[in-house]
Amino acid sequence: MQKKGMVYLIGAGPGDPGLFTLKGKQIMEQADVVVYDRLIGPEILELARPDAEMIYVGKASSDHALPQEQINALLVDKAMSGKLVARLKGGDPFVFGRGGEEALFIREHGIDFAVVPGITSAIAVPAYAGIPVTHRDASSSFAVITGHEKPGKSMSSIHWDKIATSIGTLVFLMGVENLAFIVENLLAAGRSQDTPVALIRRGTFPDQAVLTGTLADIVAQARQADFKPPAIIVVGETVALRNDLRWREQQPLWGARIVVTRARAQASSLVERIRLAGGEAIEFPSINIVRSADMKPLHAALRRLTQYGWIIFTSVNGVDIFFEEMSSQGIDIRELRGVKICAIGPATASRLAQRGLIVESIPEEYRAEGILAALKDSLKPGENILLPRAQGARKILPAELREWGVMVDEVETYQATAVESIDSGQKEKILRGEADYLTFTSSSTVSNFVKILGADKVKAINASVKVACIGPVTAATAREFGFEVNLMPAKYTIDTLLEVIIQDYHHHQADISR
Ligand code: SAH
Repeated sequence: MQKKGMVYLIGAGPGDPGLFTLKGKQIMEQADVVVYDRLIGPEILELARPDAEMIYVGKASSDHALPQEQINALLVDKAMSGKLVARLKGGDPFVFGRGGEEALFIREHGIDFAVVPGITSAIAVPAYAGIPVTHRDASSSFAVITGHEKPGKSMSSIHWDKIATSIGTLVFLMGVENLAFIVENLLAAGRSQDTPVALIRRGTFPDQAVLTGTLADIVAQARQADFKPPAIIVVGETVALRNDLRWREQQPLWGARIVVTRARAQASSLVERIRLAGGEAIEFPSINIVRSADMKPLHAALRRLTQYGWIIFTSVNGVDIFFEEMSSQGIDIRELRGVKICAIGPATASRLAQRGLIVESIPEEYRAEGILAALKDSLKPGENILLPRAQGARKILPAELREWGVMVDEVETYQATAVESIDSGQKEKILRGEADYLTFTSSSTVSNFVKILGADKVKAINASVKVACIGPVTAATAREFGFEVNLMPAKYTIDTLLEVIIQDYHHHQADISR
C-alpha cells in the first residue's frame, strides 16, 4: 500500500529567520515537497532536505504566480501521491494567509493536515518597532484588520463605527496603499485626530523602516516619504511608547551591512552573531569545504594513533573530518588515550570538547607561529606528531617542527575550493558598494572571493567597504590581492573580529552624528 501523504500548513514568521518555530524546522527537515510564498527567506528554505522538491507559488502584488485554485490542487495532488508536504506561508497561516481555504480544500479531499502556527507580523512587527499592542492604561485590546478593502465598496465588511473607538490598538495589514481611506474612516467614526499612528515596512528585517505621526498628519507624511508596502499600520496610544521602547535602532550593529565570505556550513556562527547585534549579514560563501579525494594517508595515521605524542588540529573542519573518518573506519576513540592534543584556537578546542576531549594546549596567538611557541618546550626530538589539515596550508608549521627533530605526519584531509554559483543579487550588492564591511576569516576566503568577483574589481570594492581580517596571515593574503586591510583583532577569533567591527562602526556613527 502506498504511504499516505499529508500537508502541514506552516507559518514562516514575519521575516527574521530567528522567528521561525522549532516545530516548523522539524517538519521542514522531513518534507518531501515544500510549497512556498513570496518573502520566505533563504535561511528557512535551506532547512529543507537537499532532495526536497521546492515549488514557488508566490504572488508579486499584481501578477499571481499561481492562482489559489491551482495551489489547492497542487497540495492535494502531492499529498495524494504519498508526499509529506510543507506549505510555508508568511507570518501565521491563519491570519490573512488563506490558510483556512487551503485546509478546507485539503480536508474535502480526505487528506490529513496539521497547522504549525507562525509568529504573525501583526504582533511581531510592532514589537520590533518598540510598540506593544497592549499596555496597561493605554490599550486593553487590539484588533487585526484587513486594509485591503477597496474604497467605494458599498457594503463594508469592516464596521468602522464599532472598531474605531471601542478597540485600543488597531493593526491593519495590506493597507498602506489604502492609508488615506482607512484614516478617513477612523476619523469619520470618531477616533481622535491626535491618535498616534505608525507605519512599519519590512518589519523584523535588517532594513526595517518606521514612520510615525498622528491620524491628522500621517497621510501627508507617508506621501512625502513615498512610503511603500509591504507594511503594517498601527493606530493607537501604545504607538507613543516607541519613544521609550525602541530597541532595534539601539543595537550595536543596527544599519551595518557585513559581508560574510566563509563556507556556508561554517558561516552560521558569524552570521547569527551579526544578526543578534542588529546588523545585516550579506552571505557570500566564497569557499566550499571539500574532503580530500584520497583518505588513505589519514586512515593509515588513524590505525597507528597510539604511536603519536601529539595531534595538532588547526581548524574546526579538520576536527570534524578526523572524527568522521575515525568512526567510518571503526576506530575507537579510546585509541587516543595518552595522545596529547593541541588546538589552534578556542573554536577548534570547543569542537574537540564537544567530542569529549580536553586539549592540552591552546596557543596565545591563534596561528602557526603561536602553536610553535606554545609547543616549543613540550616536544621531544624523535616524537611522532600528527597534523591533519587543509591542502595548501602554510608550510611553516611542519617545516619548523622538523627542524626541531620531531617526526611530523602531515595529512591533507580537506581543501577549500571556490564556490561556483553565487547569488547574483549578493554579488551586485557588493559591487554597488552597498556593504559596509567585508570579512575574511582565512586566506582561502580571500583568494576565492577575488576569483569569483574578478581581480580587476578589488580596488573598486575596497573604495566603499572596510576590510576586516581575522588575523595576520589572512591580512597578508588580502594585501597580496590588493586590498587595504582596515581592521584586525588582537586575538584571532570570530568574537574578537566582530568586536573590532562593532567598535569601528560606533566611531563611525559618532562621526556622522557630530
Ligand atoms: N499571514 C501573514 C499576513 C499575510 S497578509 C501574517 O500573519 O503576518 C500580508 C501583509 O502582512 C502585508 O501586506 C503586510 O501588511 C503584512 N506584513 C507581513 N510581513 C510584514 C513585515 N515583515 N513587515 C511589515 N508588514 C508585513
